[in-house]
Amino acid sequence: MLRYDAIIIGAGHNGLVAAAYLARAGSKVLVLERRELVGGCSVTEEIWPGYRVSTAAYLTSLLQERIIRDLDLPRFGYQVDAKDPAFFSAFPDGRHFFMWQDRSKTLAEIAKFSPRDAEVYPAYEDQLERIAQVVEGLLLTTPPQFPPRGLGDFLEYLKLAAKLRRLGAKDLVALVKIFTQSAAEFLDEWFESEQVKVTLATDGVIGANGGPRSPGTAYILLHHCMGGVAGHRGLWGFVRGGMGAVSEAIAASAKAGGAEIRTNAAVAKILVRDGRAYGVALEGGEEIEAGAIASNLDPKLTFLRLLDERDLDPEFLAAIRRYRIEGTSAKINLALNGLPEFKAFPGAPGPHHRATMHICPDIEYVERAWDDAKYGRPSERPLLELTIPTIYDPSLAPPGKHIMGIFLQYAPYTLREHTWDDLLDPLAGRVISLIEEYAPNIRRIVERIQILTPLDLERRFGITGGNIFHGEMSLDQMFVMRPVAGWARYRTPLRGLYLCGSGAHPGGGVMGAPGYNCAREMLKSR
Ligand SMILES: Cc1cc2nc3c(=O)[nH]c(=O)nc-3n(C[C@H](O)[C@H](O)[C@H](O)COP(=O)(O)OP(=O)(O)OC[C@H]3O[C@@H](n4cnc5c(N)ncnc54)[C@H](O)[C@@H]3O)c2cc1C
Repeated sequence: MLRYDAIIIGAGHNGLVAAAYLARAGSKVLVLERRELVGGCSVTEEIWPGYRVSTAAYLTSLLQERIIRDLDLPRFGYQVDAKDPAFFSAFPDGRHFFMWQDRSKTLAEIAKFSPRDAEVYPAYEDQLERIAQVVEGLLLTTPPQFPPRGLGDFLEYLKLAAKLRRLGAKDLVALVKIFTQSAAEFLDEWFESEQVKVTLATDGVIGANGGPRSPGTAYILLHHCMGGVAGHRGLWGFVRGGMGAVSEAIAASAKAGGAEIRTNAAVAKILVRDGRAYGVALEGGEEIEAGAIASNLDPKLTFLRLLDERDLDPEFLAAIRRYRIEGTSAKINLALNGLPEFKAFPGAPGPHHRATMHICPDIEYVERAWDDAKYGRPSERPLLELTIPTIYDPSLAPPGKHIMGIFLQYAPYTLREHTWDDLLDPLAGRVISLIEEYAPNIRRIVERIQILTPLDLERRFGITGGNIFHGEMSLDQMFVMRPVAGWARYRTPLRGLYLCGSGAHPGGGVMGAPGYNCAREMLKSR
């Protein structure tokens, strides 16, 4: 029987990061991936001839600088174009709003809606920057044991408190608010203009199981500021070659370090003997042994699908069953034979096509979109975030053609009536009609449509409930509680079994942090 030092189940970007670090430390590592390509939710797929589409994740920012540097990713093809302008919002009254990399240009835009908001915006951004810096310092660390068991655990909390002390009193209050408030409440304290607030609030609801007025969404807003491009905090960018190029660069780095990667190799079972995970069985029956195993799968799949429940403590199992992981997002990818012409900013190509383009006029609109989802219906009028990666990288589509990615909130995984398979066409129709209100030529330029509902996301990418973060990012499922209290340190109740995916601290996004942290913990126990 084959034997490795470590097996990584799943070649999502986190599994690949873990493999790369383990291999560089001299471990004999095997990565096993169910699909025919690596990357999980960070992939480029040629879904139509000549169109290379980032079918799920579409922008980068969170991927940690340290990982990019350690794994030498630019050498393996990782290249990012910073998005500028960052945001473009079109409003029904024909006005528009840009946010630029250049703060003075952004302030001039904000002043169009509220001179007072333009005055406070620098202080808002600076405070978010200070808080993000402190929280970012925790991303590449292992959370302290919770509940604490001994003196050593209490010492870790003291170290954490020392880090937080770097924030002054005002920022500390703001930090507590960020962890508990809704995005709308948080923004209401700063701004008066609806247009400014809704543009900033979208980051608080992308991927969230809640509306802008749901407590906890302020944190999602901060989570989306936890990175940057080329040293510019909070900035997002398009990856040359699409998001698959991120995963391929990490895979190439891992292979250069000696890791082996097998695709079309779905794991059916984690093998356990005397409370220790000692190997895996593939769907075809092949068994492979290893000293340690890390699962890149979400916690539900790892513990409820790949393990026999008799091997797990009932209390732990109950906590995993309660782990909330229903998604509320859909992704729609379009092939276009031209560019959308917006009423609020005529002309094509224009600077707005380089931005993330928002269709969500005000906070109440988004809250109403969430109301539908709360009662098991896709939003009648959803929040849409549009991107056109071919503006930055024309090689992704045939000459003269474009790709548009649409991220849609809200599309609840569990529907009260109907099934997702029945609702595909009506959803596509509603989305095109909605865009048409702002960009009347859209229907004419759409050549192809791919719709990925939460159910499709689950089926295609293997993420339970179609949840883009491998589990809700709410306070009770974060940091020392991710995925469940007592087991946030990448280890699991089974000796030799670790978690290296987004269901572990610090959660979802193409960040690489769970994979990095998990590899460090595995190396400690070697
Ligand atoms: C539609 C969508 C849009 C998003 N947009 C962005 C974005 O723009 N920017 C951003 O930063 N984040 C975005 N995200 C979130 C981000 O992509 C994910 O949180 C992140 O990629 C998850 O990475 P991971 O490595 O933890 O897990 P995954 O990427 O889910 O990888 C898990 C891997 O395990 C494999 N697998 C599953 N079962 C088995 C098995 N039995 N045996 C072997 N392999 C198996 C899967 O095929 C997959 O490759 C988006 C996600 C989605 C779905």
